[in-house]
Parts: sequence; C-alpha cells; structure tokens
Amino acid sequence: MVKGSKRGVPMSTLACARTVALFGIGVRPALVEVHIGRGLPGAQLVGLPDTAIREARDRVRAAFDSSGLSWPRGKITVNLAPADLHKQGTTFDLPIAAAIAVASGVVPQNSLERCVLVGELGLDGSVRKSRSILPAAIFCRKNGVRLIGPRQNSWEARLVEGCEFAGISTLAELVAYMRGELSTEHASSFTPGECVDQTHCSSSPDVELSRCPQRGQSDDDTELADALKGLVLGATQARALEAIAAAAVGGMNVLLWGRPGCGKTILGRLAVGLLPDLDTEAAIEVRVIHSMVQSEEEIGLPRRPPFRAPHHSVSPAALVGGGSGIPKPGEVSLAHRGVLFLDELALFPGPSLEALRQPLEDGVVRISRSLATVEYPARPIVVAATNVCRCGGPGDVTTLGSRLSVGVHDSEGLPQTATISEPSSKFSSQLQDREVRCRCSPVDRAKFLKRLSAPLIDRFDLCVRLEPPNSSELLEARTDRSLIWWREKVAEGRELVRSILGSEKTLAECTPREMSTLLAPEREARSLLDRWASLQRASARRVHKTVRVMWSLAALDGREKPDSEHLERAIAMIELPPGLGP
Ligand SMILES: [Zn+2]
Repeated sequence: MVKGSKRGVPMSTLACARTVALFGIGVRPALVEVHIGRGLPGAQLVGLPDTAIREARDRVRAAFDSSGLSWPRGKITVNLAPADLHKQGTTFDLPIAAAIAVASGVVPQNSLERCVLVGELGLDGSVRKSRSILPAAIFCRKNGVRLIGPRQNSWEARLVEGCEFAGISTLAELVAYMRGELSTEHASSFTPGECVDQTHCSSSPDVELSRCPQRGQSDDDTELADALKGLVLGATQARALEAIAAAAVGGMNVLLWGRPGCGKTILGRLAVGLLPDLDTEAAIEVRVIHSMVQSEEEIGLPRRPPFRAPHHSVSPAALVGGGSGIPKPGEVSLAHRGVLFLDELALFPGPSLEALRQPLEDGVVRISRSLATVEYPARPIVVAATNVCRCGGPGDVTTLGSRLSVGVHDSEGLPQTATISEPSSKFSSQLQDREVRCRCSPVDRAKFLKRLSAPLIDRFDLCVRLEPPNSSELLEARTDRSLIWWREKVAEGRELVRSILGSEKTLAECTPREMSTLLAPEREARSLLDRWASLQRASARRVHKTVRVMWSLAALDGREKPDSEHLERAIAMIELPPGLGP
C-alpha cells in the first residue's frame, strides 16, 4: 500500500506481514505492520513486545546489511498487532524483515498474501530454526495458508500433513522467493536425513532432529522388559498388571494399594511399557508440550509415551502447571498421552492432590496469570500407589477382612465378599505374621489416609489391593508375557473400543447416556450387575466404573461384549483401601 504525496513521490508507505505468536502449546495469529514515513531515520517497535522482540530491530537491520539489501531511509515504525496479546521470542524477525522489504519496495506487496512467516534472523542474514514451527504448521493447515519458515525446520512442518511449507535459509533467499525468483520446489527441497543420534544412524550430522524409528527403542524399554521378566507375579500382582493394561485400553486411572514390598512401585513404572507407541499426531502433541520446558533437541519426535513420576514433595504449581509470565505446563500435562505415576500417594501434600482433581476430571488444565490464561491438555493414565498406614503394615486387618470381594461366589453365583487369601504354608504364615502386624493406632491410620479425599479417590476407576507373593509364588511365578505382547493387546483393545464407540473417545470419557446406549452388557452380565449393585448398594458412579472396567477387560481379551466373567474380574479390580470405601 503506497500513499502518494501531492507530487507523486511516495511520502509514506505501509506494509504488513502475517505471523503467529506462541501461546501455551498453540499459537495465536498476529500481524506485523510496518510504516515508513518522514522523520528522523530510525526504527521503533510497538505493540507489547518482550525484550527479545525489541532487539529484533537490530538483528533485522544487520541482516539487511549482510544480505546486501539497502535499509530504508526515514522513520520506521513496526507495530505488532493485536496490541493486547503478549508476544515473546525471536520468531518475529522474519515477518518484520519481510514487511520492511515490502514497505521499502524491495519486493511486491502481493508476495505476502496468504502467507504466515516465522523465524529468527542471524546478523549474517541467515534464518535460524524456530521453536514454534509445529504449532504454526498446524495453524496454517487449519487456515489454508502457506507457512514460510526456517529450512532447518522443514522436517517438522512436513510432519503436519497438508501444510504447505516453504523453507528458506537466508534473508536473501526470502527476498528471492517473494519476488518469485525461487521456486516453491526449491524452497521445500531440503531433505532432512534420518537422525542426529550418531550412535544409531550414520545420516548426515547437519540434520536437526531425530526422525529415526530406531530411536524409539530406547534403553528404558530394555530396562522395563527386564523389570517385567524379573517381576514375581503373585495372584494380586497379575491382577494389578491386568488392571493397568485395562486402564491403558480405557484411558482410566489405577490405584495400587497394599503394604511395602508387594511390587507397587515396579508395577507403576511398568505401566508406561504397556502403552503402544505414539502415532504421529500424538507425538506432535507430546513434543509441543515438552518443548515448553525442555530443549527440542532432547525431545526429538517422541515415539514412546511419556512417563512422569514426581516426588511426593511436589508443589501444586509443579504438578498441574503455573509460574510467572505465561504459565508453564506441569507434570500432569507433561505426562499427557503417557503415564503419571504418583508413588506414595498419601504422602503428597493435600493442596497438590486437590489441584489434581480438576485436570483428572476434564483432561485439561486451565491456568490464569496476569499475562494470560492458557490451557494445557492433561490426559495421562494416572497410576498411584499407596500403603494403607504409616508403619507399612496391612492397615486394620479386621476391617480389611470384612470388605474384600475377590471372585468368591454365593450359592446363586453372585460375586461375594470374602476374606483375604490365606497364606499357603506354615512358613509363609510365620513370615507374614512377623511383617503384618500394624503398629499404628486407629487414629494414626485414619490420619494417614485422610489426604485421600473421596472426590480424589473417585477419579481412580480401578483400585487394586496387592499382597506380597506367597512362598510358592516366590519360587515359580514369573510372567512369560513380554512388554511387546501387552502393547499389542492394548493397541488392539483400543482399536476395538474405538469401533464400539464410533469415535476417538476413550471409555473414561463416555457420558452416562453413551454408557446406557453403547455400553449395555449382555443380558446375563446385566442381571448379575444389577443384583450386585443392589446388594452392595453401589452408587451410580460405582456402577458406571464397573461397566467401564468390564468393557476394557473385554476389549483387552479381544471380545466385543463383556460377559459375567468380565464383571467378576472388574469387581475384583475395584476394591478400595479400608476406611476409604463407600
Ligand atoms: Zn500401621
């Protein structure tokens, strides 16, 4: 846009370039307006820029010089719109340079139509790689506009299928591209190699980030596989492992409880090993969240779901997100699409646990700070482990005995309450006697579990009691099922659930309405469920949980409908610690 003066000589010129501002894990559209007018030569930046953007003025000027472009004379005003959006980072360099090039007549105005520019400039005129390419590419695909950005980021832009990307490596190249002297093919012809990880691959070292499929098979995997092989699988451990797999199928949360030494921690850590690899879309999401707190080189394109295990002294802000300025994601978001493992749940500070309730319910964290309100996705599978009292004993055995319900039937074949499994030999009975006795007073015990409020416990669909393996199990019970076996089962189960629900929803996200229409169990299982529910005076919430677990177990078995056997197993997997029951 050129406004002519009376004598036909341009007096002031105006140009604008579109860009995006990183906001949470997404981007917001922003506009760079450049006005060159009369006045003392110089450049001024307005529109709520942070320090890095304010310095863009000097970088862009030096890059112009280094690229052999003449810096326009006159007073340059750069405005970043919308003015109320807090903007940060160095990715505004490229749109500012492009808009100045247009305003000074170096390139035609229409060259910036339907384009979004993102990138940082070096003083030598080179275009450096940027942090916000992935979310920018997603934004551009959605809005049907072309993205112009650093060539080094090409591979990331290409992950977003359907995004038209032009990669440039210098300011001079950008000018040539905008003049139409550089073909789109050339601009996007950069071929990334396979991997920067030289221990695995021999591809060129100038490649920015890993796309190497081998990288997913990390050392962690080998460690987990070994842990599974070494796990002593007593009856309760096997049930817990299955419960975790069912949780992985249905997107649900698991609480493991019992005394120390029965494998809660190792099972919690194994949980992430049971999850199938991330698909590209999920990997992009995980990468974008993690790039908020970690350098992108470290992240690469993650193939394996994330695993986070914060210590129980974690603050609410570290757990759910926060911090000054633009809030950062917390552990629950960093574990999105993976596993959040909360070991020693009862020792977590009350405020942290309460802060966790909302994200676990909604699958998203909303944090408001003075600068912005951001949303981070938070849909991990939460696996929590806890003792039932501080001394590490079994809690109150008498209460425990009266409320267990493990696959024992009454005369009508209805699952019934039963006592804890008897130790199988005299030896183990002595062993247990020595370990089992709880030294806590009833008041201590109540205090210990007090932090686990009923609404929090409600977020756990599966609650599994663990007992130390008995002596015969100690000698022989090892699993012959590998991690890969479990992963395949979980992946197939998820696929089955998707086809049943006809959407991308998980079982945990099903509304009561969907549960009554899509998830009605078979007749026999149905009547058994009704009888169980009335006998136990189970709340609607508990019945729904049971139904969800039933379906997850059936999907895990590759069955399209759960039967009464799945119901029995589901009931055995929803067993609350003493004192926390309904
Ligand atoms: Zn105790």
